[in-house]
Parts: sequence; structure tokens; C-alpha cells
Amino acid sequence: MIVPSGKTINVLIADQADELLLNKLKEMGLNVDYLPNITREKILERIGDYEILIVRSRTKVDKTLISKAKRLKIVVRAGTGIDNIDIEELSKKGVKLIYSPGSSTTSVVELVLGLMIMSARSLHRAISSVKKGEWKKIEGEELCCKTLGIIGLGRIGVKLAIIAKALNMKVLAYDIIDIGKKVDILGIEETTLENLLRESDFISVHVNINKDAKPIIGDREVGLIKNGAIIINTSRGKAIDTAALLKAIKERRIKAVALDVLENEPPTEKEMELINMENVIVTPHIGAQTLEAQRRIAESIARKLIEEVKEMVKYEATVNTRPS
Ligand code: NAD
Repeated sequence: MIVPSGKTINVLIADQADELLLNKLKEMGLNVDYLPNITREKILERIGDYEILIVRSRTKVDKTLISKAKRLKIVVRAGTGIDNIDIEELSKKGVKLIYSPGSSTTSVVELVLGLMIMSARSLHRAISSVKKGEWKKIEGEELCCKTLGIIGLGRIGVKLAIIAKALNMKVLAYDIIDIGKKVDILGIEETTLENLLRESDFISVHVNINKDAKPIIGDREVGLIKNGAIIINTSRGKAIDTAALLKAIKERRIKAVALDVLENEPPTEKEMELINMENVIVTPHIGAQTLEAQRRIAESIARKLIEEVKEMVKYEATVNTRPS
């Protein structure tokens, strides 16, 4: 128990959380409200009561929310991407941000691999056709010896490159930062975005973008993509322009698209047309949704929170007990 008796630190968990995290927070003596389905309206109504807010990607911690969070000291993003958090606004108000980069890298890479194989072999179509009582043989293609273009050679990009090399794929990588050393160590090739789009049979997007960023793959870039390529995006929906993707799929210039992330989540009408196309596979942002990733996130966040709460309690105890 870190929080002394007589003192209350209120925590709002506004998205789904692992049981391990809930237990650790309670052990610390925090007063936890676990409301994974709370609406934005309710958050705005109640946020003024909390010192700590824990979210995943669903909850937007923006200027409006922050302005109402009068007691807020810490925001926890239980995961990697922090594009749903207005970091500048938090800093202005002196609110700390805790997150857990890297905790879900393996889970995302394994999902990408699954999506690559699924789209190359049309597994989604094969499975649903068998369920309909059909026995249709659908021809697919191998990953082996194909070119994989990785956009964004960070934690996930690097791990994917290692696995792709083991599958005997040729790997191209593009990043906005210097990746010279990384590509040498990995034995892959650095290239321009344009060249990657023109040469890759599989394109997988792994960039970290902020909330106002323009799509990296828009109309012009989609036009450069090799005929028959397969596009995978598990990073953020905004990295690829939905309308440009839909157009290319309709024109059959792209063989398949597999997305774990969308511009709007859950999808709006804008995304539904794309989702309903036969060679489009969409999963509901489940890249980090594994037992192991959620455990790692919970452990890493609990460790960081313990230190922060100790500081909070120590500081306030000093102020309160200071002789007048
Ligand atoms: P990272 O920060 O380690 O790597 C991101 C890389 O992208 C960096 O090397 C960066 O320089 C590069 N980059 C940024 N903007 C770029 C641009 N315009 N063009 C080319 N490269 C660019 O991040 P990571 O841990 O590898 O995560 C990658 C992405 O995956 C993030 O968007 C993250 O939010 C997302 N993610 C999704 C899930 C999921 O559930 N689907 C889970 C974890 C992470």
C-alpha cells in the first residue's frame, strides 16, 4: 500500500484493462473506477474528480478533456501509440504521461505475418466459402522470394524485417530518419518511398504519426504502387488515405488490403464501403490484443505508476506537514 490511509487518489480507467493492472492499482491503495465502456460525454462530466486517467486508443485526451480535468496529475496510455493524446496541452498543465512503447511489438509483428499470409492465400474467402458448403480451390501466392517494403523501420518494422528475411523475402525499407546502420545490420535495403511503392509485392506500414499528420500513402502514392501488390496497415488509419485505397481496390490495381486500423474507429460509412470489398481484410485494432502484450503493458505501467504515485504522496505529505 503506497497511498496512506486518510488520503484518496482517484483513478478512472476509461478503456479495457488487464486484470493484473487492476489488481496492482488496488494493491497500491488507489481508488479505481473501472469503466471500460464509458462514453466521452460521461468522461467530460466526471473527469474533474480524478488524479489519474488510464486510456487506450479509444479515448481522445484532447484540449477539451484536459481543460475539465482540474485534479489530473497523470495520464496513462496503456499501449504504444500516443496519437490520441494532446501531449503539448498536458505539458502546459503539468500533467505527466506514462505509456509503454515496445510492449506489443511481437504481437503486432505476428499479426502482420498472419495478415500477409491470409491475403496472399485469400484465406478469408476460402474459409467463408467452405462454411457456405462450397469446396472451391482458390489460387494464392507464396511469400518466399517476394519483395516486402516496410514503411517506418522502428521497433515493429525491424522485427518484421528479421522474420521476412527468415522467409527468404527481399526487404526494402523507407523511413524519415537515418536508418543506415539498421539496414546494414539487418542485411536489407534502404530506399525512397517512391521506389518502395514501385518495387514491393507486399507493403507494410509501421509509422508513428501524430494526430494532424497527412496520409503517407495518398492518391499520388497509390498510383505508384506495383500492380497486384498487397498492402498491410497495422500502424494508424490516417497513414493511408481510405478513398485512394478504395479506388485502387475497385480498379483491381491492388490485389488485397489488410488493415488492423482505420481512419475512424469504429468504422463510419466512409470505411464500410472499403471493408465490404471482397479482397479487403479488416481486424478491429487487435494488434496488441494478446495475453502476453496486455500482461507486458500492465506490468510496465504498474511499475512506472508506483514510482509516480510515491512521488505524488511524498510531495503532498511534505506540503501538508510543513510547519506554518
Ligand atoms: P516506432 O516509434 O518504434 O517506429 C516508428 C518509425 O516510423 C520510426 O522509425 C519513425 O521515424 C518512422 N516514421 C515516422 N513517420 C514516418 C513517415 N512519414 N515516413 C516514414 N517513416 C516514418 O513505433 P513502433 O513501436 O514500431 O510502432 C509503429 C506503429 O504501430 C505506431 O503507429 C503504433 O501506434 C502502431 N501500433 C499499432 C498497434 C495495433 O494494435 N495495431 C500496436 C502497437 C503499435
